[in-house]
Amino acid sequence: SDEEASAALDIGHDLGRAVLNARSFEREQQAAAYRQQLIATMAHELKNPLAAVGGYLDMLEDFLAEEPATGPEVQRSLRGIGRATRRLDDIVADLLTLARFDEAADPALVAPQELGALLHEVVEGLAVQADARDVRVRVHAPSRGVLVSADAADLERLLVNLVSNAVKYSHEGGEVEVHLETRPGPVPATTEVVLRVVDHGIGIAAAEQQRLFEEFYRSADPAAASQPGTGLGLAIVQRVVRRLDGDIAVESAPGEGSVFTVTLPGSGSPT
Ligand code: ADP
Repeated sequence: SDEEASAALDIGHDLGRAVLNARSFEREQQAAAYRQQLIATMAHELKNPLAAVGGYLDMLEDFLAEEPATGPEVQRSLRGIGRATRRLDDIVADLLTLARFDEAADPALVAPQELGALLHEVVEGLAVQADARDVRVRVHAPSRGVLVSADAADLERLLVNLVSNAVKYSHEGGEVEVHLETRPGPVPATTEVVLRVVDHGIGIAAAEQQRLFEEFYRSADPAAASQPGTGLGLAIVQRVVRRLDGDIAVESAPGEGSVFTVTLPGSGSPT
């Protein structure tokens, strides 16, 4: 009948669509894999020449320091080259870090880590950056007993990026609060670790909140753009969270501040 024929056509049509979708999905996957590979290769290739530029720059600075005839233009140019080189260094280092997430974590390095102790260390390490902007970072976290099974370097990356963003995008003299706690997990006899990084700074427009975790994404907001950054920090944070089977969420309002909440599966005691 006509009805049967049209039903068959529909099925054929749906199947055709499904095949096309599968093919384009595959192509997208391949394109994404290719892109990642390209980024990793480029970062590796840039590393050595960049190190050479840095080395020669140091030599030149030492050499010119002993040259009384060096004028202010030369000094200014040197400082400019120094700044640009450090920025390139940061980008390449972040790209290499990102590329490492293409592979699984080194199982030899994965062990229960005291997240509270690590958090206190990280915040101490950011004191110079916070002082420079007159920002106070308050940590509400137990030093012991909050355990996450991970490579400590990954956890450090997560904490450094989130806390340093909160400091960078705070107003001068502002305050950042970092909360860390455990709670029962969704599965009985498991725990969940919740980290909240709260700032009262410039905030993020709703339309931009989805894009923050993309590589190289930086807000167009001039207040954000005036801060140094590579746009890779949150991409790295997201990779860490994924690797640990966790979750990350952002709540923010422009002019009011931001809250980044990370939930990670807790680990048993390190016995
Ligand atoms: P960047 O190196 O630029 O800080 P990130 O990947 O860490 O890169 O962050 C991407 C962008 O997200 C930033 O450029 C900034 O626009 C925005 N952002 C991140 N954290 C915050 C925050 N706490 N408050 C406001 N904006 C933020």
